[in-house]
Amino acid sequence: MILIPGERWPGSSAGAPSAAPAPERPTSKPGRLAVIGLGPGSAELMAPAVREELNRAQDIVGYTTYVELAGPFRPDQRLLDSDNRQELERARLAFELAAQGRHVVVVSSGDPGVFAMAAAVFEALEQSQDPVWHAVDLAILPGISAAQAAAARAGAPLGHDFCVISLSDNLKPWSIIEHRLRQAAQADLVMALYNPRSKARPDQFAQALAVLRETRASETPVVLGRDIGRPDESLTVTTLGAIRPEQVDMRTVVIVGSSLTRRLARQDGGEWVYTPRWYGEASASK
Ligand code: SAH
Repeated sequence: MILIPGERWPGSSAGAPSAAPAPERPTSKPGRLAVIGLGPGSAELMAPAVREELNRAQDIVGYTTYVELAGPFRPDQRLLDSDNRQELERARLAFELAAQGRHVVVVSSGDPGVFAMAAAVFEALEQSQDPVWHAVDLAILPGISAAQAAAARAGAPLGHDFCVISLSDNLKPWSIIEHRLRQAAQADLVMALYNPRSKARPDQFAQALAVLRETRASETPVVLGRDIGRPDESLTVTTLGAIRPEQVDMRTVVIVGSSLTRRLARQDGGEWVYTPRWYGEASASK
């Protein structure tokens, strides 16, 4: 298959699906593969190193929405975006291109190491016996993850120990998710919940809340950050007792406070949410 510079690869959402390009193996040295995080959405929350990598890239690989967020691109840069490709396939395509000597960027939203492409890239590499893949100049460039971006808008809810849990059961059984939620609640960790509720699984979020309510008080502060850093951004402060599943979708990150997390009135009528960094006398018995 011949790839024409500046055009979308035919496997992109704009064209018919197709197999990976036929390898044209290099006589020169392998290229570079950078897995980058765009941050939550807005350009000013993207690291300068990521912007620089995108400027230098020849091939941009990723989920269409994220590739669009990463643009605009020059006509000489190839966009290999697609929604219908598996993460592992996408990672293999990126390695194949880098092995041909190309400068490839794989795009993730937020941080590439948080429920995103970086781990898929390592999985593809570990499964490969191809020495050229292992010789590719591989780099992971961090981005601001959704939990960090939402926490900053709300105040400092992640100010003490916290954990990050994906509620998607695409890649792990629901029983493990429930187990982790229960353990995290018992350990009094603040939780940032990703992939909280989708059309395909509308009811599991209510089950997750029920697990948290077994141990955590109903007045526990909860922050709902939706489309943070994007034009439709919204931030809602509620409580574990009051939150309704309909308030939450796949564009939302949910931060559930610990027993220490507090709400603080702002002069403008809003409120901050923060978790103090210490366990004081009041919590000495915990
Ligand atoms: N790598 C990404 C997470 C990908 S998983 C990161 O580090 O942020 C996708 C989930 O992330 C979404 O379901 C949502 O829970 C959360 N998310 C991603 N971007 C978001 C944003 N701008 N605002 C709120 N939540 C977001």
